[in-house]
Amino acid sequence: MQINVSQLLLESIGAGRDYEIRDEVDVAGDGNGREVRGKVRLLRTHRGILVRTELNTEIELACSRCLRPFRHPVTLKIEEEYIPVVDIVSGALLSGPEEPGSFVIDEHHVIDLTEAIRQYALLAVPMKPLCKESCAGLCPVCGNNLNQESCRCPEPVTDPRWSELSKLL
Ligand SMILES: [Zn+2]
Ligand SMILES: [Zn+2]
Repeated sequence: MQINVSQLLLESIGAGRDYEIRDEVDVAGDGNGREVRGKVRLLRTHRGILVRTELNTEIELACSRCLRPFRHPVTLKIEEEYIPVVDIVSGALLSGPEEPGSFVIDEHHVIDLTEAIRQYALLAVPMKPLCKESCAGLCPVCGNNLNQESCRCPEPVTDPRWSELSKLL
């Protein structure tokens, strides 16, 4: 997902651009493109260009209860400053960003959002992903997926200390 910012780099600090983007991005880095769409706001800063965007896409997860893979919609709220590696006027090489791992505007004055999308998508992975809130999970005895069919296994034995509590539930 690339945006050419050569025009904006020539403008004064505070100048902005808005884009509506819709593109296929390899969000998980697994070779599979996923649709990413949303609004992007670019702002010319003292050092480079501030990218503010809210992008909608889907990530592939495995359910923590039934282990089934499923697609989980996420909204990535990205705010990152991109620093140019080349001076837009003279074409001279710049020292680039001071902080390692910062995002850069490449020598063709292009911002590539792919890496930021990947990093923010990783942060959006829930601790305990569930294919649905009501996922019935797997039978602890036979491993049957209880969302698809029930089995004839006996009810798992509950600890008597919990039985009073489960009556309440
Ligand atoms: Zn599940
Ligand atoms: Zn079973």
